[in-house]
This record gives sequence, C-alpha cells and structure tokens, in this order.
Amino acid sequence: MTNAFNQVDNSIYSNAMTFMRQPLVVDPINSDSDIVVLGFPFDIATTGRSGARMGPTAIRQASINLAWEGKRFPWHFNLAKQCKIVDAGDLIYSCGDAEAFCQQVDAAVSALLAADKTILALGGDHFITLPLLRAYAKKFGKMALIHFDAHTDTYHDGSRYDHGTMFYHAPKEGLIDKNSSVQVGIRTNYSAKEHGFKVINALEANDMAANDITAIIRETVKDMPVYLTFDIDCLDPAYAPGTGTPVCGGLTTDKVLKILRGLSGINIIGMDVVEVAPSYDSSEITALAAATISVELMHLWAVKHKLL
Ligand code: MN
Ligand code: MN
Repeated sequence: MTNAFNQVDNSIYSNAMTFMRQPLVVDPINSDSDIVVLGFPFDIATTGRSGARMGPTAIRQASINLAWEGKRFPWHFNLAKQCKIVDAGDLIYSCGDAEAFCQQVDAAVSALLAADKTILALGGDHFITLPLLRAYAKKFGKMALIHFDAHTDTYHDGSRYDHGTMFYHAPKEGLIDKNSSVQVGIRTNYSAKEHGFKVINALEANDMAANDITAIIRETVKDMPVYLTFDIDCLDPAYAPGTGTPVCGGLTTDKVLKILRGLSGINIIGMDVVEVAPSYDSSEITALAAATISVELMHLWAVKHKLL
C-alpha cells in the first residue's frame, strides 16, 4: 500500500496546490533552483474591475491540470527534469501601500536575481511589471520588452501610476528600449507613432500566420535580454473571460501558444503573466490559459539557458 499521507501527489484535484506541484520553499534565494515561481497578489492599481489579487492562487490551482504530463506536448524535453522549479508562494507586503509594495518587490526580486534565479511572476494587476522591470534593469541594463495585451499600457496624463501607464514610464526610466520592443494583440486606441513601440495589433495578428508574427518579434528584439510580459486580456474574452478589462476581438489560445513556441531561442531573462481575475472567470478557462502560458514561458527559458 502507498502511504496515505504522502504529499507527493500526481492527482489533478487533491492536496496543497503549488505551481505544477513543484516544491514549496520558504527560502527561495538559497534553494537549489533555476526558476522561482512567485505570486504578486496586488490589484490596487487597477482602473476598472478589481480582483487580480486572487490571480496567483487561481493560476496555481489550474496548473495542477498540467502537472501530470512529464514531457509536455509538443516540446522535445521534460521541463521538470531539465530545470529545477520551486514555488516560493506569494510576496508578502502591506496591502494598501503601493509604495511599500514597490520597495518589497525590489528587495525580493533583486535578491533572487543576485542569486542567479529566474523568476516567473504571477499577477496581480499589470502594474507589478513596473517594479519588476526596475529590479531587472539593475542586473541586465536596458531590455527588450515583448508585451502581449489588448492595451498598450502607455496611457499617461502626467502623474498616473496604475496598470495602464507602466510602459509610458518604463522607457522614460531607461528600463526598456522601445526600438527593440514589440506589443502584440493591441485592440484599443493607440498611436504607434506617438508611443514608439512596434505593434502587431489584434486585427493584424488574427490574420497573420504565427510564423510571420514570430519572425517580426525576433527581428525586433534581436539578441537583447528580453523581458516577456503577458496580460491575459491579449486573449479574446472567449478564451480569457476572467480579467478586469476584457476586449472582444482578441487572439485564441492556439495562436498564442504557437507564437510563444516559435520564440524558442530568444534571450528571455524574465517573465510574468498578469491580470487574471478569477471572480469573472468561468470553469477556470482563464486560469488554465494563464497556467499554460506560464509553463510555455518556462520552456522558452529552458531552451535558451539549458541549451536544449
Ligand atoms: Mn490589458
Ligand atoms: Mn496590461
């Protein structure tokens, strides 16, 4: 008989749910790990419907559906065998104090990066990417940004710091190079000329082959260190209803997975998946999409950094 209290569990429904059933650690900095999954349950920078603070928990729970597979289709290697992945739980911070949150992100992320860990950040609203980029830039300098979203998040009217203004501030702070950055899936008003990023908007992306999209992305980021940020509202609401600001006419999960797999070999150094708000979700559609995208991003990292 197996031990009834054995917590190593391959079921898709029981026991404490860490990301992909990887070990939960309380000291990720000193852990024997390549990739640290860290939740950022922060949503007070949301301008519309809130609820993304519950995103990390929902994504973890949905990730259990993906934990059994071993070598994931259609990749050629077993991620968990090639990379050591740990789940460090969620960032602790004083809820309601956005400035303290930024300081806490900087302290935690800087310490992990100094210990040569790669972070998969689970949002939280999209604002979390700004303090993340600040910490990454201290190690990697100016980065290329690959940004999947329905919105450019470059809106600004002077002093706003919220989940729609990070990519107005990030280039101004010298964190990312606009000329090496690309936004995919945009379908709200924007002026590419004014905001300066390369854009493959949703109308274009939905009519293009995934290969043609990846070719443009590769051409844009070249061999720069890449931070990839995925706002789940890049997906059409049919594929991701559980988000604060859904916009019709988005990408399918199939298209997005093909694009991500086609980016294998880029110099990805950081990644996040944000804006999952499970209270608007249905049947875990959105959380499962976010968990799946997260796992694909880890494969991209492994291809580059484990030379697979
Ligand atoms: Mn968005
Ligand atoms: Mn966004």
